[in-house]
Amino acid sequence: MVQKVYVTYNDVHKLCKESAQQILEEFKPELIIAIGGGGYIPARILRSFLKQPNGKNISIQAIGLSLYENLGTGEPEEVPGTEVIHLLTHVMTSQQFSSEAINHLIGKNILIVDEVDDTRTTLQYAVQELEKDVKEQTEKLGRTEKTNFSIFVLHNKDKEKRGTLPDEIVNSRYLAARTTKDVWLCYPWEAVDIEEHDRLAAQQGNGFSA
Ligand code: 5GP
Repeated sequence: MVQKVYVTYNDVHKLCKESAQQILEEFKPELIIAIGGGGYIPARILRSFLKQPNGKNISIQAIGLSLYENLGTGEPEEVPGTEVIHLLTHVMTSQQFSSEAINHLIGKNILIVDEVDDTRTTLQYAVQELEKDVKEQTEKLGRTEKTNFSIFVLHNKDKEKRGTLPDEIVNSRYLAARTTKDVWLCYPWEAVDIEEHDRLAAQQGNGFSA
């Protein structure tokens, strides 16, 4: 049985806060793409910490990739990873950005936000599809600007990854607030009983170092 680690809303808030400065300095994001559902809340919290005095809020766009939660099983941590690609393809195809939305990405520093990098399948797929779409539109419009993708996750599991990311991202455009063992992270937005969730988190005593 895989170990469960409970993460509270305060933990998430603090992980975003402590990562913001590095994200601003190194990635200089001009737009956030949140991968749903787990990336939405971290992306929104992070945005508050990325706001510069007198600056505009960075806009957030969402893509709805969902690996585990729509498979109709009560035990998400037990779903085999082989299901992933198929489901991803299906979900992403039905929600692809319009060419107008892609045009808006050209030449920008774009920060992709998700809650956890587990097998890396989702991140690989998201980066691959976005880079492909942006490249196609850039060429079609005869534009020359470079579009840079970077990644922020709350947790990266230290394990062998099934997915891969471009070297440029892995080497200098990837930030995980915490690296964890191969545990199952229980995020607060998935909790049915938040008091119980927080009680279990306090009992574990991980704080936001989980
Ligand atoms: P990956 O594609 O990296 O294997 O998985 C990414 C997605 O799987 C996450 O966005 C999340 O929805 C789900 N996932 C993977 N590991 C965990 C975990 O430990 N806890 C939760 N709650 N979701 C996870």
